[in-house]
Amino acid sequence: MLGKLRAPFEDSQIGKLPRVTCKACSDRACSEHKPSQCRVCKGFLGKHIHLDYVGHAHVTERLLEIDPGWSWEPFALVERGLPALDASNGLWIRMTVGGKTVIGYGDAPGKRAAVKELIGDAIRNAAMRLGVALDLWKKEPADTVARAEPAPAEKRSLSPEERAAELRNLILAVGKKKRMRLADIAGAFHEWCRGEREFRTAPAEVLEEFQQHLQKIGSTDA
Ligand SMILES: [Zn+2]
Ligand SMILES: [Zn+2]
Repeated sequence: MLGKLRAPFEDSQIGKLPRVTCKACSDRACSEHKPSQCRVCKGFLGKHIHLDYVGHAHVTERLLEIDPGWSWEPFALVERGLPALDASNGLWIRMTVGGKTVIGYGDAPGKRAAVKELIGDAIRNAAMRLGVALDLWKKEPADTVARAEPAPAEKRSLSPEERAAELRNLILAVGKKKRMRLADIAGAFHEWCRGEREFRTAPAEVLEEFQQHLQKIGSTDA
């Protein structure tokens, strides 16, 4: 079973995850590297490298092929019976494949309320402990600054409208922490883009930038 889990993936199943390697670029305050759209990952990220990775859908497929009865469960539940997150908004899980149980951890830095990403990340992490895509994980350098946006392969499932709706929810969640209501956020957004767009109708790229802007304000205030 371990050999099958560890079998290499096809090139078409391997995505490119951008990782920013310059601290100033990751803070969006770099004068040295100008962000332009990257041909490989399509991101606007400044100086970055690409890590090969296998998305959670292909990992799930691999697990199903090997053990259709594989399962995962969260470590702990909150009172309402939902999976509990840790202080860093990460999710610890136990995953069982072919009778072998391993522990996994999922996080989604910079994204609040991204539960599906947490689950996918935790499954990928636990599966790695069983050897799935291990050779790709081994190549991951230790000196990258921050996890950048998820690679296009994982985003492709969302339509532009869905992505915009997701971002609006994220922005509302960020705003809530700063005690901003919808009207405050819409006002701040209007001001931020100098009246050129409205919060309700702005496209995903603009919302994405605004989210980062809003988060930065939060971190300087705190
Ligand atoms: Zn830079
Ligand atoms: Zn790139």
